[in-house]
Amino acid sequence: MNLCDICKKNQVDIHVGTPSGENLHLCWECNNNLAAEYLGIDLIPFRNGIYEYTGIRGKKHTFRINQIVHPVGIGYEADEITVDQSPGFKVAVMDNLDCDQAVLFDKLEAKIKKTIFKRYLKISKDSYFGKRIIIKNDEVVGRFEYDERNESIPMVVIDGKAFSWDELGKMLTTYEGFQFALEIYDMTDDIK
Ligand SMILES: [Zn+2]
Repeated sequence: MNLCDICKKNQVDIHVGTPSGENLHLCWECNNNLAAEYLGIDLIPFRNGIYEYTGIRGKKHTFRINQIVHPVGIGYEADEITVDQSPGFKVAVMDNLDCDQAVLFDKLEAKIKKTIFKRYLKISKDSYFGKRIIIKNDEVVGRFEYDERNESIPMVVIDGKAFSWDELGKMLTTYEGFQFALEIYDMTDDIK
């Protein structure tokens, strides 16, 4: 494990080039402190780490949450930690450098809770097709991720579960003859 150049304690999350031409390998916390000093902003006390939320039927979802100071804004990123290392839910928010960071974190938590309670897919059982996954209400929201099994096509993550493009295609067979719209959003955007 590579350790952060400043604290020599945390794992390296980001490589930063400084104005003096130095190349630093930093953890998020040291990156944030350095960026805040450079940008002249104060950071509220925040603990990067593991947070737990309760979802549908009392299921526990564990997220690693990091505060991230970007040159243009402040963000929080929450990545679900799954038992089998598969991609789970991922939630992010971002606002201006002078935003209220506590309010932004509340926004992240509200978005996490909304995300882990919403489902776009359901299991359908019928005598002709048997058991299969279908789209619940004619719409699906998810994200694209790199697929190491197939570098030429991204995988899709819906309801916190990974699917191949082919698997998504099979869910769409009931919509032959229909139109569709595919629109791309930033991870920090709100979709409805
Ligand atoms: Zn550090």
